[in-house]
Amino acid sequence: MKVLNLRCAHDHRFEGWFDSEDDFQSQHERGLVECPLCADKAVTRLPSAPRLNVSNLRDDAKPARSPGEATEAALRQSKWMQTVRHLMDNTEDVGERFPEEARRIHYGEAQERGIRGQASREDAEALREEGIEVTAVPVPAALKGPVQ
Ligand SMILES: [Zn+2]
Repeated sequence: MKVLNLRCAHDHRFEGWFDSEDDFQSQHERGLVECPLCADKAVTRLPSAPRLNVSNLRDDAKPARSPGEATEAALRQSKWMQTVRHLMDNTEDVGERFPEEARRIHYGEAQERGIRGQASREDAEALREEGIEVTAVPVPAALKGPVQ
């Protein structure tokens, strides 16, 4: 799965979830990607580096399972784990300095880069109010702990 930051012609910003970049391209070409606020189809990708709040480790983020969906859910979970692993490989862990570091990057006081770390719900909301994009990522239990 791939999370893309998207923007419509009216400067509404939103996230789109796709299987891959190809999946986004193909849906985009067929006019299937539209702004959730104004239904505009002139959607462009934002190149912004990800800022990930990885503290929300909630069980209710897992997909609901029924016996028939077990295989599909397992597949989805492994895809999700690959995505999270990729995100973790491509972001710098700043731990509890996350809100501070996200602000420094936003205001140009630190180098633009992808970061991840912990932020409380209040911190994350305060960041969003300042216009700083924060994505909450539920991390699978298997990926907790040190990451190379
Ligand atoms: Zn829009």
